[in-house]
Amino acid sequence: MNKKLSNQFLVNFLVIFLLTILATVLAFAMLSFASGLISGSLVKNQYPASAIIKEDYRQIDASGVVQSGGGVQVVDREYRVVFSRGLDTIGKEKLSAGEFTKFLTESKSRPYHYDIIYQPEGEFWLIVTFPTSIRMDFSLLYNEEASVGDFIHAGWAIALVALSYLLIIALFAFIYSRITAAGITVPLRKLCDGTRLLREGDYSARVDLRLKNEFAELQNTFNDMAARIEHEISLRKKSEEDRRRLILDISHDLKNPMSSIQGYAELLMKKSDLSEQESNEYLEVILNNSKRANRLLTELFELSQMDSPEFSLKLVRTDISEYIRQICGELVPQLERAGFEYEFDILEESVFVLLDTDRFGRIIQNLADNAVRYNPPKTKVTVNLTVQNNQVVIDFSDDGIGIPAHLANHIFKPFVRADDSRNSKTGGSGLGLSIAKRIAEMHGGDLILCICGNKGSTFRITIPTI
Ligand code: ADP
Repeated sequence: MNKKLSNQFLVNFLVIFLLTILATVLAFAMLSFASGLISGSLVKNQYPASAIIKEDYRQIDASGVVQSGGGVQVVDREYRVVFSRGLDTIGKEKLSAGEFTKFLTESKSRPYHYDIIYQPEGEFWLIVTFPTSIRMDFSLLYNEEASVGDFIHAGWAIALVALSYLLIIALFAFIYSRITAAGITVPLRKLCDGTRLLREGDYSARVDLRLKNEFAELQNTFNDMAARIEHEISLRKKSEEDRRRLILDISHDLKNPMSSIQGYAELLMKKSDLSEQESNEYLEVILNNSKRANRLLTELFELSQMDSPEFSLKLVRTDISEYIRQICGELVPQLERAGFEYEFDILEESVFVLLDTDRFGRIIQNLADNAVRYNPPKTKVTVNLTVQNNQVVIDFSDDGIGIPAHLANHIFKPFVRADDSRNSKTGGSGLGLSIAKRIAEMHGGDLILCICGNKGSTFRITIPTI
C-alpha cells in the first residue's frame, strides 16, 4: 500500500511539474507576442537615436524626447558630456574610458532604455534615454555565421543545464511526493496496524494519530469501535464466568440434598430392623432435602424464565400505598409467629404505579422470609413507603444481624450468601434476592441494600410513579 500510494503521488507530481514548465514556456511566448503588439506605441520606439542624430550635435532637436519624459546626451571622443537635455542618468560632465565602458556594458541592467549610436563624422556618441516601464529580459539569440565548434559547445552547455533542471525537478517531485504520501500512508499504516491487532484479539488496541483532519475522525470512530468491542467482549467473558459459576453453584447446592436423600433411602431399604420412630426420622430428612432441592430448582426456573426474552410482566395500574398496606397486613401472622416486632409507616395518599401485583408481592415476601429466617426473635421489622422525585421508595428494614457492607452489591447475585454455614442450617437457596431485584428492575425500578450505618439491614425498593 505504502509503495503504491507513493509512486502514484510521484507520477502525479511529475506530470504537474512538466505541465508547469509547458505553461511557463507558453507564458513567455505570449509575453513576447504581446510585447511585439505594443512595441509601436511605446515612446522609446517613437524617438530612436537614429531619428534625431545630426552630424553636428548642436543641431540635434531633443524637444520631442524631453517632452516624452526622456533625455538626450552627447559624449565626445574625450568622454566629456558635451550636450545634455532632459533625463540624465550619466550624472557627470566628464567620464574616464573605464567609466564610459562600464556605462555602456551595464546599461542593460538599469531600469532605463538606452539607444546609443556613434556618429563617425562628428566623433561622438548620441545617447537617448527613456525610463523603462516594465521589461522582462528573456531572449534566445543565435547567429548562423558562428563557428560549428561554438555551436556544439553552446548546445552541450544548454543541454546540460536543461538536463540538470529536469533532474532537480524530478528530485523535488520525488521528495515532495514522498512527504505528501507520508501524510496519508503513515496514518493509514497506523490504522491498519490497529485493525490487525483487533483482528488478532488485542481489544485494548487504540490509534493515536495526533491529527485534526478527516483521519482524526476515522481514528475516533476506530477507537470508539475498539472500545465497544472491548466492552462487549469483557461483558461476554463476565457472563460466561457467571454462567460457569452458576452451574458450579447449582451442582454444589443440589449435591448435598440429593446425596442425603439417596443415603437415607438406601438405609431405609437395607435396614429391616428400624423402629418406627427411626424410619419416620429418616423419612423426614428425605422430605426436607427433597423440599430444599425442589425449592432450589423452582427458583432457578423462575430466574431463568425472567431472563428469557419472551418473559413479560402483567402490569396493571395500582395504588401502591393501598397494595403495600394490604401485604403488610398479610405479613403480620408470620412476624408474630417468629416473635418479631413490627412497624409500618405507609403514605396515606394514593400513589399509582404500573404493577404486576403477583410478582411484586414476591419481593416483599422474600424480604420478610429472609428477615425471619436470618434474624433472632424480638427483631423489629419496619416498612416505610414514601414518594421522592416521582419514585415510590419502599424501605424494608430490620434491626437484626445485618449484612456486611462489602456484600452490598454482590448479595443480589445468584448463590451469594452472607454466611454459608448459617445458610446451610436455614436452607436458603441464595436465589431469592436475585429474583427480587430482577422483578424490581422489570418494573423500571430497583432493589438495593442501603448501607446507612443502622443496625440490621435496610433493603430499598424503588418504582416509578405514573
Ligand atoms: P437465601 O435467603 O435463599 O439464601 P437470598 O438471595 O434471599 O437467598 O439472600 C441471600 C443472603 O443474604 C442470605 O443467604 C443471607 O445470608 C443474607 N440475607 C438476606 N436477607 C437478610 C437479612 N434480613 N438479615 C441478614 N442476612 C440476610
